[in-house]
Amino acid sequence: MIYRECYDWGRAALETAGVPEAELDARLLLEYVCETNRNTLLAHGDREVTAEEQSRYESLIARRADRIPLQHLTGVQEFMGLTFRVNEHVLIPRQDTEILVEEVMRKLHDGMRILDMCTGSGCILISLLHYSNGCDGVGADISREALEVAEENAKRLLGSEQSVRFRQSNLFEAISGKYEIIVSNPPYIERGEIPGLMPEVRDYEPVTALDGGEDGLDFYREIIRESREYLAGGGMLFFEIGSSQGADVQECMRQNGFVETVIVKDYSGLDRVVYGTWLA
Ligand code: GLN
Repeated sequence: MIYRECYDWGRAALETAGVPEAELDARLLLEYVCETNRNTLLAHGDREVTAEEQSRYESLIARRADRIPLQHLTGVQEFMGLTFRVNEHVLIPRQDTEILVEEVMRKLHDGMRILDMCTGSGCILISLLHYSNGCDGVGADISREALEVAEENAKRLLGSEQSVRFRQSNLFEAISGKYEIIVSNPPYIERGEIPGLMPEVRDYEPVTALDGGEDGLDFYREIIRESREYLAGGGMLFFEIGSSQGADVQECMRQNGFVETVIVKDYSGLDRVVYGTWLA
């Protein structure tokens, strides 16, 4: 077979399986198998693929047709211009979460101490450290398997001059010290909504990274209350939120004594980030 035939076959197979963005995923998987890029693929559509490449492509397309996320097949996801390793133990970094990183960056100064609560793949913390100087980062997560992914990402993406540690911790249980910045993208999906999520998320991403309790707000309440003990005076708490949660999370921060609370919208105009300051 040649590139073009493979691509057409893959796209049709994924379309039949109801995969969203079938065309894109068929192309990305072909690029992955043939270790090539979009331009070569399109400009040299008549190039032969080897029998081995073809059989690997067919098996990847079959797995994607079973709605296994693309990133679990390729093992990577781009985030903030960096390539993060991912697997079934971590939430795949979402583009929406880049807004959270960008908002923190606006307030981040060299040398600050950062705590990333529910760090998962480490994408938030590692991006912040990668794009700053002399900051000290701690990533906390309840999942040992997630922390292994985060540690590997930190090793690959951070230089030896950047200081980062990961802690297995049920929220703040194993955390000590004070931080100028606490940032979190906690699980925030309402429990009742989980069965209706797309199969890629519902069946293959860790439910512990999604389930925010009955109203989705369990982790916000807990983190807001406890973070006060770990924030330096004038320190800031940043959250990613679901688009309907802005007012509730902001109100909870106010009730717990945070000031200058702000809701930030994403590029689709949906509430995406809430942050505030702790004066101590
Ligand atoms: N944004 C994610 C989703 O829609 C959820 C992330 C989270 O719960 N922190 O699947």
